[in-house]
Amino acid sequence: MRLSHNFTRTLKDVPADEVSRNAQLLIRAGYVYKVMAGVYAYTPLGIKVLENIKQVVREEMNAIGSQEIIMSSLQRKETWEVTDRWDDKKVDVWFKSALQDGTEVGFGWSHEEAILEMMRQYIKSYKDLPVSVYQIQTKLRNELRAKSGIMRGREFIMKDMYSLHATEADCDAYYERAIAAYKRVYERLGIGEDTFITFASGGAFTTFSHEFQTICEAGEDTLFVNESHTVAVNEEVLDDATRELGIDKESLVPVVSAESGNIFKFGTEKAEKMKLYFTGEDGEQHPVYLASYGIGITRAMGVIVEKFADDKGIVWPTSVAPALVYLVQIGQQQSLRHANSLYDELMSQGIEVMYDDRDERPGAKFADSELMGIPYRVTVSDRLISDEKYEFTSRKTGETELLTRDELLARLR
Ligand code: ATP
Ligand code: MG
Repeated sequence: MRLSHNFTRTLKDVPADEVSRNAQLLIRAGYVYKVMAGVYAYTPLGIKVLENIKQVVREEMNAIGSQEIIMSSLQRKETWEVTDRWDDKKVDVWFKSALQDGTEVGFGWSHEEAILEMMRQYIKSYKDLPVSVYQIQTKLRNELRAKSGIMRGREFIMKDMYSLHATEADCDAYYERAIAAYKRVYERLGIGEDTFITFASGGAFTTFSHEFQTICEAGEDTLFVNESHTVAVNEEVLDDATRELGIDKESLVPVVSAESGNIFKFGTEKAEKMKLYFTGEDGEQHPVYLASYGIGITRAMGVIVEKFADDKGIVWPTSVAPALVYLVQIGQQQSLRHANSLYDELMSQGIEVMYDDRDERPGAKFADSELMGIPYRVTVSDRLISDEKYEFTSRKTGETELLTRDELLARLR
């Protein structure tokens, strides 16, 4: 994309009420627009990052045989009354409204009950199982505190997957495949090394659920990890988990972390309540085994910003960056011609380039390339071109090299 066509501007100042660093940087760099506390709009630049994250998640969910769907945001009161979760005392994040005729409706903060209700229409026999579905969709939650920028939105994007099985063994086996898929997701997003599968509070069926917690100063959770980073326990279940695992509490150290994902086994409890039964090979009626698997898409974007940003701005991992290259053109005829042709060549090879073709001072272009966090900057100037060289700078390390055009192309490929 050419920056001269981009409508957003980088900003020196942020809204006075914005206290979180991820939102401050994302607003200043032009990725998000703040509507109100916990509610953000995404610009074309922001969408590029979101789509990259979604694509990683989508590929990994597809790879374990899950099928993509989109459930509705408007939900029926009756759907949630069955499990007693329409009650605001049980679920304190509901946004609710009413139709013109007075019928009460709720805005989807989760879709567990809604999915099971839908599946009643499709799952009749053991031959219809297993099924795994997922969606990537906006959730609405009336969160009490929204001070963590896009890491805790009142409107945010989640990937939620649901797997339905005839037997516990089949559910357990799929759950393990989902864990492996989640690990690949965090690896590919560049936060694999600092993301731990964590024992967390469980719900009705199992003692523990599993959270994927990413070490992050801006997180809202505390995680206890052992020295070799092979055991991680959420503070809320520290006593129970260490007892169960037979490990000494004192051997674990606390770290601040953010919950990037959460997975649960429900057993048959939810299906029994929602009356989702299938006819088994024995001809009898059996309740379906359910597990659910969430990933915060916008939270992951915020965590990535928080983890890698430096004093100059955002530093995107290449897998999520809105472009691989930030192309700076300085000078008049010669360099303009070379920059244009380099832009065309890279784009035609499928290498995404953010081309700073604006009439701006070089210093302003460099500062914007750093604030926006594009992994590599390539500078084309009249002086460099007369030496047949391009300046190649890594955002992460700040190291600069002078490369010929062939060397540059080889490096970017
Ligand atoms: P938290 O304890 O942080 O409120 P949760 O237990 O309510 O999270 P789930 O309902 O399991 O979260 O949602 C699945 C995932 O969605 C979470 O692991 C997290 O990554 C993300 N998520 C949850 N709430 C928010 C929010 N308000 N804003 C952004 N992402 C969120
Ligand atoms: Mg919550």
